[in-house]
Amino acid sequence: MTDSGRNDIADLFIIGGGINGCGIARDAAGRGLSVVLAEQSDLAQATSSASTKLFHGGLRYLEYFEFRLVREALEERETLLVAMPHISWPMRFVLPYRADMRFEGDTPTGRLLSGIMPWMKGRRPAWLIRFGLFLYDSLGGRRILPPTRSLDLTQDEAGKPLKPDFKRAFEYSDCWVEDSRLVALNARHAVELGARVMTRTRVSSARREGDVWRIETDGPLGMRSFRARALVNAAGPWVEDVIRSVLSINTREGIRLVRGSHIVTRRLYDHDRAYFFQGTDGRIIFAIPYEQDFTLIGTTDQDHQTVGEPPRCTEQERDYLCAFASRYFARPVTPDDVVWSYSGVRPLYNDGAKSATAATRDYVLSLDENGAPLLSVFGGKITTYRRLAEAALAKLAPAFPRARGAWTAGAPLPGGDFPHDGVMQLNDMLRREYPFLDARWAARLVRAYGTDALKIMGEARSAADLGCDFGATLTEAELRWLMAHEFARRADDVVWRRSKLGLRLSKEQIEAVDAFMADQAGTGAVSPAAE
Ligand SMILES: Cc1cc2nc3c(=O)[nH]c(=O)nc-3n(C[C@H](O)[C@H](O)[C@H](O)COP(=O)(O)OP(=O)(O)OC[C@H]3O[C@@H](n4cnc5c(N)ncnc54)[C@H](O)[C@@H]3O)c2cc1C
Repeated sequence: MTDSGRNDIADLFIIGGGINGCGIARDAAGRGLSVVLAEQSDLAQATSSASTKLFHGGLRYLEYFEFRLVREALEERETLLVAMPHISWPMRFVLPYRADMRFEGDTPTGRLLSGIMPWMKGRRPAWLIRFGLFLYDSLGGRRILPPTRSLDLTQDEAGKPLKPDFKRAFEYSDCWVEDSRLVALNARHAVELGARVMTRTRVSSARREGDVWRIETDGPLGMRSFRARALVNAAGPWVEDVIRSVLSINTREGIRLVRGSHIVTRRLYDHDRAYFFQGTDGRIIFAIPYEQDFTLIGTTDQDHQTVGEPPRCTEQERDYLCAFASRYFARPVTPDDVVWSYSGVRPLYNDGAKSATAATRDYVLSLDENGAPLLSVFGGKITTYRRLAEAALAKLAPAFPRARGAWTAGAPLPGGDFPHDGVMQLNDMLRREYPFLDARWAARLVRAYGTDALKIMGEARSAADLGCDFGATLTEAELRWLMAHEFARRADDVVWRRSKLGLRLSKEQIEAVDAFMADQAGTGAVSPAAE
């Protein structure tokens, strides 16, 4: 499309292959704009694979009166659920309640309550929680997700794994999403719509030249030069760094880096609902059924000093999460239960909030029009990525008067072209067509690829037709698909981002995956569709 050898000028050049960069690329390409995206590492390598993986309104943001953010996110849940019924699904959250629970004091709700009900001292009456959940149920409209209900934990299965002094709870709806698959599928769709996506390609500098941007990249094909009419800085935690160091622009806008870590344990309980736990420090954590055999617990909120320091779950954070969950579960959660952990940095707009927990989760789109447009993305949630992309393109609209209008609401992501409640039928169909698949294998394929699972299976009549099985049902056929269509280049891309099979594969098995992928890339047997 546009490199130094040719004279083309792209409409949009996007820095960053996280959810925001890939969401904007997909939306823009579908409006008829020519788009180039560069990601310095793998897609979703940074924050977008390290989230709690919820499409949620953010119940706790109601405490901060963040009604705009909560409404937009709540409205969005069902739109997204319908567009990607394979990688997202409804989830029920159980919020155990005890009258002596302490909530964060320094929130607008806390301050209001200490004025009118000073005797509560950080506690929340049950009617107020119920009212919050009523708002949560009604603010964003709800057609698919069931409403809030009260639970008697002495009778309900959700009470079994908890300490016996938790006798009542509320249960409400949100949704789960496979975050890094969401990114890969947005990138893939963008490419199908004509975009060019380059992974492992760092933008090293960009300068305005007249009314276009000149962008220099460094990637597998060496240094290259591109020109574009507008530049989007969707570098997540690096957004401020890119403005200062890559674009050499002075800015007063800043980012607040807030690290969040999660731990994964062997499965702690037997039902399919998640828990929302309120802590003595006013914070909340989730405990969520994860990858069938595990429980995901998180998250923390720690100021993170510099983007140059890769985020890791510290021992202190691990112990904090274990102790927090142990205040609720009858059987204590100990560091010995932890089989994996991950950590990411929230790139929050610096609104001067005192604590990391209080910093706004809303997004800010900043447009610099001192010449060719530069749009920088600060903050944002996985849940609002599609709306953020629409807002970004609305901001850039004057530069592209011939671009088509918004189109992504109601458009399925690749593999998501089946009814939102049709996963079981798709499972059955896959197992009828390919009787050698067992229930677990078929379910994994449907949840990862939706209707594309049929394309991966192709003409196979037996498991052997899919080539070598690297373990945990990961076959050559699947690896070839991931390399050809989803930008996977190394074992890590596959076992920690396109899937979570890293939880099941041994070190030797992962090395065998890596060797196979290196060999395929080397022989050119799999053509990287995206580059
Ligand atoms: C612990 C935690 C839990 C969360 N939970 C949720 C949740 O449950 N639900 C929800 O909706 N949201 C959640 N979020 C928020 C959400 O994950 C983030 O807002 C979102 O992933 C940010 O995406 P992004 O594209 O802006 O950034 P990123 O995903 O970080 O992407 C930015 C990309 O830019 C690339 N890049 C940087 N510099 C360059 C350069 N010079 N050249 C090329 N590429 C470059 C980086 O490599 C990176 O991949 C959570 C966040 C955290 C940290």
